[in-house]
Amino acid sequence: MSTKYVFVTGGVTSSLGKGIISASLAKLLQSRNLKVTIQKLDPYLNVDPGTLNPYEHGECYVTEDGAETDLDLGHYERFLGTYTSKANNVTTGRIYRSVIDKERQGAFLGKTVQIIPHITDEIKRRIFLLGKSGKYDVIITEIGGTVGDIESLPFVEAVRQIQWELPDEDCLVIHLTLIPYLSAAKELKTKPTQHSVKQLQQNGVQPDILICRTEHSLTPEIRKKLALFCNVKPNAVIESIDADTIYRVPLMMKEEKLDEIVMENFGFSGLPEPDLGRWTAFLDKLSHPSKTVNIGLVGKYVELQDAYKSILESFIHAGAANDCKVKVIPVHSEFITDENIEDKLSGMDGILVAPGFGERGLEGKIKAIRYAREHSMPFFGICLGMQMAVVEFARNVLGLEGAMSAEVESTTPYPVIDLMEDQKTTTIKGGTMRLGAYQCILEEGSLAYRIYGKKMISERHRHRYELNNEYVEALNSHGMRTSGRNPDTGLVEIVELDSHPFFIGVQFHPEFKSTPEHPQPVFVAFVKAAMQYRESKSAEG
Ligand code: GLN
Repeated sequence: MSTKYVFVTGGVTSSLGKGIISASLAKLLQSRNLKVTIQKLDPYLNVDPGTLNPYEHGECYVTEDGAETDLDLGHYERFLGTYTSKANNVTTGRIYRSVIDKERQGAFLGKTVQIIPHITDEIKRRIFLLGKSGKYDVIITEIGGTVGDIESLPFVEAVRQIQWELPDEDCLVIHLTLIPYLSAAKELKTKPTQHSVKQLQQNGVQPDILICRTEHSLTPEIRKKLALFCNVKPNAVIESIDADTIYRVPLMMKEEKLDEIVMENFGFSGLPEPDLGRWTAFLDKLSHPSKTVNIGLVGKYVELQDAYKSILESFIHAGAANDCKVKVIPVHSEFITDENIEDKLSGMDGILVAPGFGERGLEGKIKAIRYAREHSMPFFGICLGMQMAVVEFARNVLGLEGAMSAEVESTTPYPVIDLMEDQKTTTIKGGTMRLGAYQCILEEGSLAYRIYGKKMISERHRHRYELNNEYVEALNSHGMRTSGRNPDTGLVEIVELDSHPFFIGVQFHPEFKSTPEHPQPVFVAFVKAAMQYRESKSAEG
């Protein structure tokens, strides 16, 4: 069987959820035993989102192989339960860089280098690369941006060429669009969709399937009108009504028979019925929690939910695993003071101190960690959150006044978090952090060992600074256990406090590997500890 290609474009507005639709279709096809992967093409000029501020582009998601990628790849992994890689996220910047590098090497033999065919050929090469690996039956490629944007034109042109080159039964274009509801007229309006499909057609691409985001159900008349004016089959107009959770979208797409239309188009027959047993079991648990906990998410980007996407999703998975609704309450680290900390944190059942870069909000993070430590409140620190737990402990327990991370204070007398030698000579910022999966050995008898239930784990990283090994002995002798280490370098990956019911800081990013079907163990244990803390609080009083 030849590899099949699905393209997902977006029309009318951004933020319609192309990533979730792509992931949902992939889930349905995977549940019928097909091997599927999803790729995102991003039209911006950054080589990758690694150097982008989270305010610009939300969380930067990290893959096993250390690629810094768009947060949609997180959705792909969470829905499919399979890993993505560098090849799954390609930006305009990366495309141009490889074409220009080839030009400098003389690879174009004196030809004028142009958008068509050179840029479009490079885009197509990246699309077909996943197919050529032989690992997949279906490749779903999501085109970032909105049809009509100048930046996405070369991508749309590449889709046109592929639609023209491949046999009809090997290629499919899905256009995701918005059907707005005008409350004054009490009507759903199809015109914006008609225009965006026209735009696509002007670029030479005919969509095969329309997926319509809407707040109200599409009537048969509207479906018929959309099919007629947009030149798609009537059964290829799919309704995507707002969902209570993104995890319900695969089931809604199944109701609308999206997978059946795709299979029909590709000539797939005799595939098994979708097996979504574990997925629906997760959804059932998610919808009927018997308990609630409040988790304070202490960070500096808390006003922007997308900045902590994978952490928020991990709490949804861990909550369902514990039959518990996890209310994540944003606490802006920049505004925590000695005067207001009690007000801000006393209602929490646990505190998560978030990853991050730079100085803003650091002192607030340190205060929140001290509060959790002194009040025996469950604490979970991730990356910078772990580093600040070490700083807090060094200052307030070891008495090392002015201890800090060298990232923000190069002249600190006690650089308990510092750069390793190999990072000291690095001047380029993009793609040079410690990135991707590294192994970690857990100390038997530690909290981390109990959580994971095994000695060797592997988690993903994204940081430049490390716990300075010169301070390990002092930390250990005062009660901060270093319970996880990198087996090759000896770098500390986990710290915890034996004297505290649940206090753990991890240098890695466990949130990148949590899925509904395999919730991440540290998140599950943290939510459980928060539930116990809440119970003991209510028992007291
Ligand atoms: N800024 C810190 C470092 O580079 C932590 C990074 C993070 O939290 N991801 O080491």
